[in-house]
This record gives sequence, C-alpha cells and structure tokens, in this order.
Amino acid sequence: MAEQNYVELRHVNKKYKDFQASDDINFGIGKGKLIGLLGPSGSGKTTILRMLAGLEHADSGEIIIDGRVVNDVPASERGIGFVFQNYALFRYMTVYDNIAFGLDVKKWKKADIRRRVDELVELVGLKGFEKRYPNQLSGGQRQRVAFARALAPNPELLLLDEPFAAIDAKVRQELRSWLREMITRVGITSIFVTHDQDEAIEVADEIIITNHGHIEQAGTPIEIYSQPKTPFVTEFMGSPTRISNITSFHGYEELGEGLHAVVRPEHVSVTKKTEQSRFSSSVEEGVVERVMFRGREVELHVRVHDVLLVANRRLEEASITEGERVNVFIYQVFAFPAGENGTQNV
Ligand code: ATP
Repeated sequence: MAEQNYVELRHVNKKYKDFQASDDINFGIGKGKLIGLLGPSGSGKTTILRMLAGLEHADSGEIIIDGRVVNDVPASERGIGFVFQNYALFRYMTVYDNIAFGLDVKKWKKADIRRRVDELVELVGLKGFEKRYPNQLSGGQRQRVAFARALAPNPELLLLDEPFAAIDAKVRQELRSWLREMITRVGITSIFVTHDQDEAIEVADEIIITNHGHIEQAGTPIEIYSQPKTPFVTEFMGSPTRISNITSFHGYEELGEGLHAVVRPEHVSVTKKTEQSRFSSSVEEGVVERVMFRGREVELHVRVHDVLLVANRRLEEASITEGERVNVFIYQVFAFPAGENGTQNV
C-alpha cells in the first residue's frame, strides 16, 4: 500500500500557539487521484494543504511526495501547483501573461512559453481571451485562468483551496464537472479543500473528512456516505434526525438501551393513510407538522413518538398537507453506543 502512495502524511502535527490545528494526520493518496479534503470551518483542511505546499512547517511527522520526505524542501522546489479561492490573478496582466508568469520566472524560452500557453488556453476553453484582463472576465473564467496558470509549469501535484467558493451557484455547478473532466484529462494528482458535502461527493475519487484537526474517516464518496464510521461523519454527511428512543419504533425494539441513533430523510417512508404501504404491518402513525417545497421534492417534518422526523417525497406523488395523519416507516438507522465512536448499520 505505502509504496503505491504518491502523497503521504505520517503522524503530522501542527500547533498554532496552544491550538492543535493538525492532530496526528495520517493518509496516503494514489497517483492521479482527485482527493476532497472535507470538513467544517476551522477543522484544519487548509492547514493540511499549506503544509503540503510548503507554506507552513509541520511540528512533527513526515510529509512525503513521490517517495521523498519534503518537510524541509522549500515551496518553490516541491513541484506543486496552487489554485486559491479568490483567483489571485495579477490584475494588471492579461490572461496570456498570467498563465505565462511562472514560466517566465523559470526562464523558459519565449517560443516554448507561447506553445505552452496556447495549449493551456485551449485546454481551459479560453481561446480568444488571451488579451483580456482579469476584470474583463467572469468569476468562472478567472478561475479557469487560475487553473491554467497553476498547470503551466507541469506540476506533479495540484492543490486547490476552496476553488469555487467565490462563484455563484449555477456556474459553480458547471465548474465542478469541468474540474473533474480537466483533472481526468491531465491525469494530475490533485487535492481540493471544500466544506461542501455535495461538492466533495460529486467531484472527488476519495474523500478525507477532517474534524477538530484530526481525520474522522477516509474513503470513496459511496463508502463515506453509506458506511459512516463515526457519529460525526454520519451526521455531517446526511441531514439526519437524532433519535434517543429508537426502541419505541417498530423493527427496532430489540436494539436495547443506550444507543444513539440517527436516521436520514431518504430512509424514512411517509405515506397517506389511504395509500397502500409496503410495510403495512409495522408502520407508525405520525402527524405532519411542516411541508416545505424543495423543487422536485417536498420535505416533510413528521412527528412520531415525540421525534420530529424529516422525510422527502417526490412532488408529483405527494399531496400531503400540514396537520395530516400519515403512516411512517423507517427502513434504516445508523446506531452507535452512546459515548463511543463507532457506528453499526441496522
Ligand atoms: P475554513 O474552512 O474556515 O478555511 P479549515 O478547515 O481550512 O477552515 P484551517 O484554516 O486549517 O481550517 O484552520 C484550523 C484552525 O487553525 C482554525 O481554528 C484557525 O483559526 C487556526 N489557524 C489557522 N491558521 C492560523 C495561524 N496562522 N495562527 C493561529 N491560528 C491559526
């Protein structure tokens, strides 16, 4: 396993005064993978990225890139491309000069620079925009220039810090698929920081979840979503309801006391009293307290046994109204012993 990793962090720690920003960080990343570092604000994502880039020094542990311990290698010699959240383009330089900048610094020949910049504007879909200045571009276009500039010197590793955070929702969505496609095409090992679960699930090959400076779980998006290993990941990846009295629900009587249970909206079935339910023998009765329209779905808040459950139904099949009595069935619960850090899927 270890020798296949292109990037590896081993027991990395970092403190800012008394604050433990990175707490025994361990992970390995295969070559060519696109990794999402996902966690709430302040959980230590950017600190990890900055240590990889060489902008921050680890207090202890090893940072290994391509088999070499780089802790003491300066940022400029790590062969890393960086894309920041706020574009960080040079305002008084054209698109061409922004992309060419790093190559000029490295004293590439003019003809080689021209060839490389031409290739990159083509790659990022900005042919014809070479003479524009950053303020003549949209946010999405600026971020593509930033991407081209980071790729220009052929780095071995690309780090992206919340690359779409400053961009509005629709363009952001387009840029996500664009980034995925670009990175697959270029084949460069990449790590991006995000606090957006959907973004990580959609874009990353693997997700690393950070919380209070440590790693909670690492795995593919499907593993992280469907087999969360800690209460934190379970709640962070869903939008679940906590249930303290799960044993009062049909199908969960046997679970025993002292369990902490959470249930996700997609695991709750809500049907009208007049509808045939697949679970007729074991449904609970609930009362709908709120119906919220969310585009093609409605979100229902249903009270059952003193618990306010959240469920989703397709708009066209739900003529459920507030105050209505409904049948409720929970098909899946994530449960873990209260106070412990593991979950079991029940
Ligand atoms: P965000 O999503 O808000 O950017 P993050 O997960 O990237 O958060 P970091 O930027 O890594 O988190 O910060 C982790 C913690 O370390 C935060 O509580 C932050 O205040 C603290 N921190 C970061 N840089 C410094 C610094 N230079 N000096 C002191 N504390 C710092």
